[in-house]
Order: sequence, then structure tokens, then C-alpha cells
Amino acid sequence: MLQTMAASPSMGQCDCGATAGPLGGCVDYYHAILAEEQADPQMYRWHTPVVCAYLLQHPSRAHEKYLDGQFRQLQLYMDKGIDALLRVAAHQVARNKHGARSSYDMAPFAEYAPLPQSGSPGPFRATFCGLPFRDGSFVSDGHLAYGRRIEIIAEATVESWRTLQT
Ligand SMILES: [Zn+2]
Repeated sequence: MLQTMAASPSMGQCDCGATAGPLGGCVDYYHAILAEEQADPQMYRWHTPVVCAYLLQHPSRAHEKYLDGQFRQLQLYMDKGIDALLRVAAHQVARNKHGARSSYDMAPFAEYAPLPQSGSPGPFRATFCGLPFRDGSFVSDGHLAYGRRIEIIAEATVESWRTLQT
């Protein structure tokens, strides 16, 4: 197997394989999204898929023990949509308030595939540094358009990880 890509991280290329955009690498886009969504509750609806997809596209920056749950959350999102994902998240918060012993209820995710144990995914057909950033905003053309782009990144993430499964 050719090693040319992995051996030399070059300027302008992110570790997910994407070419940097005007804001920089995916990490720069990720931080810019987190900052903008803090002040925009509508945009914040996609917070969970943003975090999960970012970490699954850059697993070296993630906590390995959470990646499986994040992979399953993205699958639930693909399967049932953003409202279902938000309901599951709200359920987890309510459950924690009631002092459940286990911090996370995996039942809603039981039907989804576990994270493949070996290999690294990518390249991805949609990435964070490919997101359009216009007039200082990710949502300049509306929240639905933004949500659709996050959905495409989530899809690309799940798709690439799934190719590792045998
Ligand atoms: Zn990247």
C-alpha cells in the first residue's frame, strides 16, 4: 500500500484528508461553528451531529471510548432525523437528572452498528472545511440549508466508517 499521504502532513491539508478552506483546516471551521451556534438556538439544533461528525472524521482528536456512541448517534440521525436525535438527547438529560446510575442510556442505539474496531476511515466526500462561510456566517442562506449540509457531512462520515466493516 502506498504511504505517501500519511507520511508527510503537508501545509493546507487536514488529517481527515481534506484540503483546507478559506478559514483553515476542519478544526478552524469546527471552532467557528461552535462559536456561532452559541448565539443561535436554531443553528444549535445541529450541535450533536456537528460534534459527532467532526470527531469521527478526526478520531485522533477524540476520546476513543465515546466514538462508538457518537457513531450510533449519527446513524440514528440518518435513520430518523434531527428531531428524533434531539428527543433522545433530551431523554438522556432528563434521565441524568433523575440520578440514573449509568450516565448514558444506550437502549435507543442498540439497533445500530457498532464502530469498527480497526482501521481509519476517510477520505470523506463531505468535510467541515468544505462548508461555505459567507458574510461571516455559516447560515447566511438559512438554517435549513445549513442543516442539509451538516446532514451530508454526517452521511459521508457514516458511509466512510461503514466501508471498514467486513
Ligand atoms: Zn479535517
